[in-house]
Amino acid sequence: MAVRKIRTIGDEILRKECKPVKAMTPRVRELIEDMFETMYEANGVGLAAPQVGVMKQIVVIDVEDGNQYLLINPEIVEAEGSQTGYEGCLSVPGKTGIVTRPQKVTVRALDENMQEITVTGEDLLARAICHECAHLHGELYVDLVEGELEDTEPAEGEEE
Ligand code: ZN
Repeated sequence: MAVRKIRTIGDEILRKECKPVKAMTPRVRELIEDMFETMYEANGVGLAAPQVGVMKQIVVIDVEDGNQYLLINPEIVEAEGSQTGYEGCLSVPGKTGIVTRPQKVTVRALDENMQEITVTGEDLLARAICHECAHLHGELYVDLVEGELEDTEPAEGEEE
């Protein structure tokens, strides 16, 4: 496993449409492992493949609810309610902004065995699913920010 370099806003790869994964291969497996490692290293709650420069429809999420979510070729099939709150992105370092998202979403995707799964998430998980799935279509949360992007406080005591 390896930590990969996270692409940041301005990198045109973040604005491209990603391709569906057709088959699980050793290369894709390695990518997924690296994505989890990269996300944890950066203290993120989610990461999409284009953020590490790979144009594939793969998302990893861990909002510390006791689950690790891997979503391959995800498609949001249901959304309800709304929540408005601060959001950030590993590809937009040092910034945060207010975004309104559905309060609850259901996403259909494939797992590591290319079997269909359905995940329903509320609150932060719903926000993360929406945010990460948007990355696969070249969309960034900064497009949706209500008001101005704000600077985050410098994090204290976090691992370098
Ligand atoms: Zn992001």
